[in-house]
Amino acid sequence: MNILLVYAHPEPKSLNGSLRRFSVKRLEKAGHVVQVSDLYAMKWKASLDADDSLDLQTRPSDMRFDPNLDSRRAFESGRQSQDIALEQDKLRWADAVILQFPLWWYSMPAILKGWVDRVYASGFAHGVGEHSDARWGDRFGEGTMAGKRAMLIVTAGGWESHYSPRGVNGPMDDILFPIQHGILYYPGFSVLPPFVLYRTSRTDEARYSGICDALGQRLDDIFQTAPIPFRPQNGGAYDIPALTLRADISPGTTGFAAHIA
Ligand SMILES: Cc1cc2nc3c(=O)[nH]c(=O)nc-3n(C[C@H](O)[C@H](O)[C@H](O)COP(=O)(O)OP(=O)(O)OC[C@H]3O[C@@H](n4cnc5c(N)ncnc54)[C@H](O)[C@@H]3O)c2cc1C
Repeated sequence: MNILLVYAHPEPKSLNGSLRRFSVKRLEKAGHVVQVSDLYAMKWKASLDADDSLDLQTRPSDMRFDPNLDSRRAFESGRQSQDIALEQDKLRWADAVILQFPLWWYSMPAILKGWVDRVYASGFAHGVGEHSDARWGDRFGEGTMAGKRAMLIVTAGGWESHYSPRGVNGPMDDILFPIQHGILYYPGFSVLPPFVLYRTSRTDEARYSGICDALGQRLDDIFQTAPIPFRPQNGGAYDIPALTLRADISPGTTGFAAHIA
């Protein structure tokens, strides 16, 4: 199978760098074909702007830049910046996508967020399918990435207890919800439970070996592991166009947890 690893760490000799090399080897040993988008090594341009369209030079100077419309125009006319088009091709090629990053300020490093902002063009990852009062597009379980799997590999400096249900940082499932539900499930990926490492500063040879065993198992099972049961938007659980959960579904449950069956 084809696996795309989108990797965001600036230092190859980091823990993330070691885990990335381990993951690629393990996946290739299992017979998969792996491509890595090493965003720092690629000097990935993180900010979405008017330069993302090849038509920049021919734009009337008084024309307002519209991030959404310009992204759609460039995508539909084949006039996107080459780096964006190449990453979209990798996503089309992949059967599974892994995003690997250190948790920075409770989220992904800016360079990876910028990869999402720019690669997830309008017409490609959002704004797909019929939008009407009866149907709100192909998203949250449907869309361009339907049939593909996705998984996060995340390292965090904080302790596991800091991210427990009553931990001061908030539960890790909640922190990762905007990425797993909003970025991965939205365009159609089946999202596997994340592989999260806590208290990274306490890593020595012995711990690292255990981490590789656990991560290796997750990678071996990548096409068998049951995805997180996020609720499909168009499966009947939500009233459209309000897009709120039907009153009889998990009554009394609110917040992120309500969107998991
Ligand atoms: C801007 C910023 C924001 C942050 N925000 C958060 C936050 O919101 N929440 C949070 O919890 N943390 C946060 N952190 C901490 C961050 O998540 C961790 O520092 C990071 O995940 C560690 O990953 P790393 O690859 O950089 O590890 P490294 O620092 O490279 O390594 C960690 C440890 O692993 C050891 N190690 C590395 N490779 C190996 C190997 N092959 N074998 C054995 N040992 C090895 C190293 O010696 C080191 O002791 C933040 C850090 C920064 C810089």
